[in-house]
This record gives sequence, structure tokens and C-alpha cells, in this order.
Amino acid sequence: MERIRTSNGVHFLLSAEARELTLEVLYAKLSNDDVSRIFHMIRWPETKGQPCCPHCKETECVVTVPKRALLYRCKKCELMFSLTSGTFLHASKLSLRTVLAALLLLADAVKGMSASQFSRQVGIQYKTAFVLMHKIRASLLVENSKVLLEGNVQIDGAYFDTKERKPNEHKAAREQAALEKAARENGAQEALGDEKPAWKPTPRCILVARQVSGERGRGGVKTVIGFAPCENGVDVDAFVAKHIADGATVTSDEHRAYAMLVAHFDLKQVNHSERYSGPKGENINQAESYFSRFRRMQIGQNHFFGRHLLGYAAESAWRDDNRRKSNAQNARALLGLLLKPNEDGLWRGFWKVYLRKGKGVTLPAGGDGATLASAA
Ligand SMILES: [Zn+2]
Repeated sequence: MERIRTSNGVHFLLSAEARELTLEVLYAKLSNDDVSRIFHMIRWPETKGQPCCPHCKETECVVTVPKRALLYRCKKCELMFSLTSGTFLHASKLSLRTVLAALLLLADAVKGMSASQFSRQVGIQYKTAFVLMHKIRASLLVENSKVLLEGNVQIDGAYFDTKERKPNEHKAAREQAALEKAARENGAQEALGDEKPAWKPTPRCILVARQVSGERGRGGVKTVIGFAPCENGVDVDAFVAKHIADGATVTSDEHRAYAMLVAHFDLKQVNHSERYSGPKGENINQAESYFSRFRRMQIGQNHFFGRHLLGYAAESAWRDDNRRKSNAQNARALLGLLLKPNEDGLWRGFWKVYLRKGKGVTLPAGGDGATLASAA
């Protein structure tokens, strides 16, 4: 059992560090200038918050635009830009304080939060909340794809969204079903026409690899996720080649998809049909622990991952890896993700395009299966 405790034996989430920043401080004690300074420092860390021209990367030639808050002009390039130009918050109408409060709520939600609850708590529309959360997930997914694990790594796979939902039958539908059943039993099948084929879920497997700390009680420290239609050797090989450094020790269960890793790594396999931990204590408990938390996130908050499965998986991985950081640190990290350049325009104008879906308009990247396929 993993221990998330501080040095004096208190669970981390009960410690003072876990509640470093509160909504009271954010709304009652921070001035507009303080909030603006936080954004500037995170947007332009290299220049210590000094606005930097996105084109020539210089600060000396940047001036403020009179009577326009947070808008700047580069005298050299004659370019106007704002605090959020080109980032995931580009053209956002939310106030800086609202964004910060929203991120604080997200940082505090250890098992994630549904977009509907998020929208009520922050006081923004559901659609705004949905897209804001997915922008964070898209950014997390990009970051996750760059992570390389080394040392002691545990690997596993698990399936999501594979069960058919229970039918929500009304009385009329139940009566119709009873009639159809009776008709079938009476051999009057032809009168009913062709029966619809039963719906079958598409297999969707999330692969996870976690670097485990050598220090007892610290658990997983770095997590990477990937997608595969099912646990198979080809996808596992591609996933491992991208994310696990040479010389690592890899532990997996007895699934044959992992057997060929022995060619590249020091591989330890634990046969789960016999035992959950090998003779020398080898196990994949940290990988299992990730899936356990991810499933709680689905059951308790998000319910259905759908085509955004990888984004949710990346969010869960980030929450796992940062579970011992203070809420202020995590809120700042989330803000850092939103203030990164969004060069591919992920999730930009999502609802405008979504509402026109079916009229020959392609959804923006991140809004359809493209993310799933490209990251696989
Ligand atoms: Zn410039």
C-alpha cells in the first residue's frame, strides 16, 4: 500500500501545504495587479514577466497600448499582441481571476471534476467549462508524449468504455419488446422485419508505464500513457520505444504482449493467475494504482470518456504524478499549460465547428478521434 504522508505522519491532503492557496485569498487578498503579475510571470518566465514580442522575442521595443489593459505593441515589428495571444487562452473572455479560481478548483479536485460541476462552481457556461478542461487535457497530452522513463518501470494495460449501457426502457418500449418476443416465439419473425445487429463496443485499451521511485513509500513518480485497440505486441513495442530509456528494468504481468520486451530490457513478469508479487517482491502495483484512480475518476466524475479517452488518461497521469504538490503549485502548473503556445489551434472554436458538424466541416484537432489516432 502506497503511503502519501508527510514527515510528521499526516496524510498529504490533510496537511497545510495541500491548501496553500484558497478561494478566500484569491478573491479577498489578491489585487488585480497581483493576479495580472502571476499571469505575466508564467507567460514570460525568461524575462521575469516583462512582455516579450512573439515575433522578434525582444522586450525593449514593447510598449503598452493606451486605455487597453493587457494589450501590447512592438514598435519594431508593428505587431499588437496580448497576454494570451497564441496560447490556449487566446481570445478568452474570462477574467484572469476567474481563470485562476477555476484552476485552483481543478487542482483541488484530486479525482478530477465533471464539466457540469465545474461550470456551476466557477459560474461559466457548460460549453466554456468543457472546452477549458479539454484545452488543459490537450496540453497535458502533448507534455505526456515527451516524457521518457528510466530505472524501475512498471507497465500494464486496461480497457475502458467497453460495456454497453443498460437500456433505459420506458413502459411502451417494454411492451413492444414483449410483443416482439411473443411474435418471435410464434414463428412470425418475417412480420417484424430485419433485427438490428447487437451493438458491440470498440475495444479501447489504455497502456500505462510508471517509473517507480527507489525510495520506499514514494510509489510512482512519472507516468506515461498510450492508446492501443487491445494489448498487443506491436503497439506495446511502439509505446515502449517512445517512452522507456535503454537500461531500464521493466515489470509487467504475464500477458504475452509484453514477453518480447525481454529483447530490449531486463524484464520481470509476474503471473497474476498464480500470485500478485514475484519471489523477489516484483509487482506492478503502481501501474494498477494508476488504473484504480482513473476508474474512480470515470465512475465518480466523468462517467463516459468517449473519443476524448486519451485526454482524460493524461489528466489522471498528471494528477498521479503531482499528488504531493501543494494546490498553489498545481494551479500554477495548470496555468502554465494554458499559457503555452497553441500552435495547432487545439480546441479553438470547438463549439462553432461542432454545431456545424455534418455539414462537411471537420472538427478541430483534439475534438475528434484524430488525437486518439495520432497519439496511438
Ligand atoms: Zn517585435
